[in-house]
Amino acid sequence: MNSKSTTWDIVIVGAGIIGCSIAWFLRNTPYKVLLLERAEPGGLATNAAAGILGPLNETEGPGPLLDLMQESLALYPDFVREIQAASGLSADYVPSGIISVATTESEEDQLEKRWIWQSGQGKDLKFLTGNSLRSAFPELANTVRAAIHYPHEAHVFAPRLLRGLLSALARQGISLRPGTSVRRIRPGSGDILVAETSAGDRIQGRKFVLTPGAYLNEMDIPPPIPPVIPANGQILSVRAPDFPIRTVVFYPPKGYFVPKLDGTVVIGATEELVGYQTRVTPGGLIEFLEPLRRVCPRLLDSPLQLTWSGLRPKTPDGLPVLGVHPEHPNLLFATGHYRNGILLAPVTGRKISGLITGQIDARTLSAFRPERFS
Ligand SMILES: Cc1cc2nc3c(=O)[nH]c(=O)nc-3n(C[C@H](O)[C@H](O)[C@H](O)COP(=O)(O)OP(=O)(O)OC[C@H]3O[C@@H](n4cnc5c(N)ncnc54)[C@H](O)[C@@H]3O)c2cc1C
Repeated sequence: MNSKSTTWDIVIVGAGIIGCSIAWFLRNTPYKVLLLERAEPGGLATNAAAGILGPLNETEGPGPLLDLMQESLALYPDFVREIQAASGLSADYVPSGIISVATTESEEDQLEKRWIWQSGQGKDLKFLTGNSLRSAFPELANTVRAAIHYPHEAHVFAPRLLRGLLSALARQGISLRPGTSVRRIRPGSGDILVAETSAGDRIQGRKFVLTPGAYLNEMDIPPPIPPVIPANGQILSVRAPDFPIRTVVFYPPKGYFVPKLDGTVVIGATEELVGYQTRVTPGGLIEFLEPLRRVCPRLLDSPLQLTWSGLRPKTPDGLPVLGVHPEHPNLLFATGHYRNGILLAPVTGRKISGLITGQIDARTLSAFRPERFS
């Protein structure tokens, strides 16, 4: 195919979980889709993620973000099943439930406040203390005094999900160009947009969807550009094949551990605004390892397997940016998913593909509109 003369129907810039999910939801449309990737797919955030799918654990109040996360969680079983069927690769999706624990009186008060508003909304959760907590989770340290149990939340192995998606997309004939960094996007003739790459190539598309994660503000595109900054997250895994807890556990102030199907336990994570540095520091790891001592000390004796870090795409209000550029109807955004991009991947794929095909009214995404910061 002569790429210089080709005009693609849809060009997606960034092959993380969000760009790939949008391409996946477009697979049964007549559109010719091209995915462009600066480096390796998912290299900034997706491959770093713990893969927790936990809407109720992630929100401090009701609102559009919680609704969006719950819609996405409900889409997950089918999303994973279809990708696995198309790729033959497992994403290690586990509807394990999540617990959020307290080890001090003030943490317990916080947990109780959360339980009151969430149970008042009719959400399915349990507040556990004393014997009910001990008998449900005997492996937790005695210092754990209370917990909320979210039985319907889940986790997935994010890099495996992405690998499956990439393989499924390739089998559907969707084109991916790794090593292609988009530097600039400008209107071309008629309704066409033109991207210039760092290598000096020009790529034409009828619509562009920008899914570059934390790198949106590094691209030269027509204003207004929604502000997205990187929030570095340090994280690690230990080898613990006999670890008896199968539920995801969150512990204060910001720690969690996720027992994976392959016998590793992922333990995380920091949140640091240090620009585009992906770094792992002893001080960062201590932040979530020290409080783990009060919750499940045996994990600290498991052999360390890997440490790594990644860049969460963060907006000023913590909500993703989903929708059409206010002045260029052929330019769409899907970024700023911050701590929950793995969870939000199916709903984002469905909504953005629905905007493109005209099956979704943009007003249903008004809380996430790109121009809300101007
Ligand atoms: C430590 C850590 C733990 C996390 N844990 C969870 C979790 O448990 N659950 C959860 O739901 N979320 C979690 N997240 C958040 C989640 O990883 C992100 O929200 C999500 O991966 C964002 O996906 P994305 O596709 O938008 O971005 P990315 O995965 O960053 O993908 C964007 C892609 O765009 C490419 N790109 C950028 N600029 C250009 C350009 N100019 N041209 C071409 N390509 C470009 C990049 O190379 C990259 O591959 C975690 C994140 C971190 C860092």
